[in-house]
Amino acid sequence: MKKRSTPSMPTPTSQAPVVTAPDLSSRSIAYFSMEIALAKALPTYSGGLGMLAGDTLRSAADTGAPMVAVSLVHRRGYFKQFLDANGQQTETDVPWSPDTLPTAGETVSITMQGRTIKICAWRFDVVGVAGHIIPVFLLDTDVEGNDPFDRRLTDHLYGGDTYYRLCQETVLGLGGVTLLHKLGCEPAVYHMNEGHAALLALGLLEDRLAPGAALSTATENDRLAVARQCVFTTHTPVPAGHDQFGLDQMYAILGQERGKALERFGCLHNNLLNMTYVALRFSRWVNGVAMQHGKVSQQMFPDYHVESVTNGVHAATWIGPELQNVLDEEIPRWRHDNQYFRSVYGIKPARIANAHACNKRKLVEEIAARTGEHFDQNVLTLGFARRVATYKRASLLLEDPKRLLKIAQKIGGLQIVFAGKAHPADAAGKGLIREVFEIAGKIKSNSLRIVYLENYDWELGATLTQGVDVWVNTPRRPYEASGTSGMKAALNGVPSLSILDGWWIEGCAEDVTGWAIDDGDTDAAEATSLYDKLEQRIAPLFAKPNSWARMMQHCIAMNGSFFNTDRMLGQYFANAYFPQAPAADATPETESEAEGMAISTSPKLQEPALV
Ligand SMILES: *Cc1c(COP(=O)(O)O)cnc(C)c1O
Repeated sequence: MKKRSTPSMPTPTSQAPVVTAPDLSSRSIAYFSMEIALAKALPTYSGGLGMLAGDTLRSAADTGAPMVAVSLVHRRGYFKQFLDANGQQTETDVPWSPDTLPTAGETVSITMQGRTIKICAWRFDVVGVAGHIIPVFLLDTDVEGNDPFDRRLTDHLYGGDTYYRLCQETVLGLGGVTLLHKLGCEPAVYHMNEGHAALLALGLLEDRLAPGAALSTATENDRLAVARQCVFTTHTPVPAGHDQFGLDQMYAILGQERGKALERFGCLHNNLLNMTYVALRFSRWVNGVAMQHGKVSQQMFPDYHVESVTNGVHAATWIGPELQNVLDEEIPRWRHDNQYFRSVYGIKPARIANAHACNKRKLVEEIAARTGEHFDQNVLTLGFARRVATYKRASLLLEDPKRLLKIAQKIGGLQIVFAGKAHPADAAGKGLIREVFEIAGKIKSNSLRIVYLENYDWELGATLTQGVDVWVNTPRRPYEASGTSGMKAALNGVPSLSILDGWWIEGCAEDVTGWAIDDGDTDAAEATSLYDKLEQRIAPLFAKPNSWARMMQHCIAMNGSFFNTDRMLGQYFANAYFPQAPAADATPETESEAEGMAISTSPKLQEPALV
């Protein structure tokens, strides 16, 4: 077997030289997502949702799936985060130019806001391990002749106000469907990755009617026909994560015809246009992103049938280079088939531990370069990095600073690395970062080192999940739909210490792949469980390198072999895209009488409208 050259960082799928566009007529699945993490250098994602989309397409490329994808170009990105000495966050744009990418070769026009808007698209090719290409069309409204406001619509991911957001979702849904058809692509399945993409259903509905026919002539049968083509993945049980828009905006942007059709087909909720309901009404299959999240979503939407497909991550994107070398030598087929990770039991645990030590050294160097703090290679190191939102409880680890310090002194030292961005408009989230800074500043000492690294992104996410010893996650149940960073850690042999929520309910084998933080009625009770596990189970095991190495092997063999996007995509094919035994129809035939989201009234659950 040819030895593959190993990249120095986890591989973003590289751009192949452009020859010709892949034949789109054979692409039977169209994947629509507001954000997609396509390459480290491209700021076209904000966090977990975009990472998942990118990892899904990388696995689609590796496994030869007949997919095509649509997103927006986001010329000014999400944002770059800066933190001052007090942890006060400021942001700057991350402009990039798609000009070196091939174009889609066609432009399309849609009407919105009562005028015509021209949309062009760039093509980013995600190239798989055997050369299969998934073309991703990045829609761009910065086209000459467009209204100046419209030219900026594809600039800022999750930027602007609700008016701007609804315009973006209109461009994604209507523009995307129109473009694919113009390119000769007639997918059998449209996958809405989160409700942001739901307006594609409106595009499909318009397409069904005779040219020029009014949407008012669309019937219940037309709705069901569209639903038969659509699959919807919902990504959060946090109510504010479900986009909704005032009817004034709906009519102003989409016009009377479309607005009326959405009303008539049951897409309003609490008298607002609700993108989750648009997606529910127009899909034959709906799923949550972990088994538990499917159940929670089922309770939120009792009139619809909700299934589950547990998320995964793209192994070759997230496994550290040294470990990739070991795997290439011992089980080279892992790159084509992630089930081979189970065979990690045939690799000497010490080889895995040594590979991890290299990754940890890189992390230690990165921390020194960024902060001037010198972490010790041999001291137990915890990682906590995620989008800063109140339900994620970044500061739970610091809930009882005195006890934490005492544990650190007792076990011979402890190191903690934090990272995470708050949405620019989320004042509460920004406050949480300052709180972590403040507590850390008070208790930092020789035995307890704490740093908060700026600008959590793909690169830093990889460095952290590859380099720490234990990955910590402390969401308030049941709001962590899945979580994927712990999966990245597992693939690197890094165990998790987490609340039993999201994927961890499925991934936690106590003392084998990590540890569960016991449920408590209060933050303090859960913090106590966290400290107990740290002191009584984790530190003693860490002191025994052979046992620890064995645990790393379990993480990869048991969790890496399952929590990957190859397996996840296979499940989408078998259950959602082309099921042999179709699931119950997600969408009822009668008008919805949903009471609505069962948990939408509790004020403490309010989060910025971001997934
Ligand atoms: C993996 C990843 C996420 C999502 O991780 P969660 O565990 O779902 O919070 C977010 N941001 C970045 C940069 C990531 O790499």
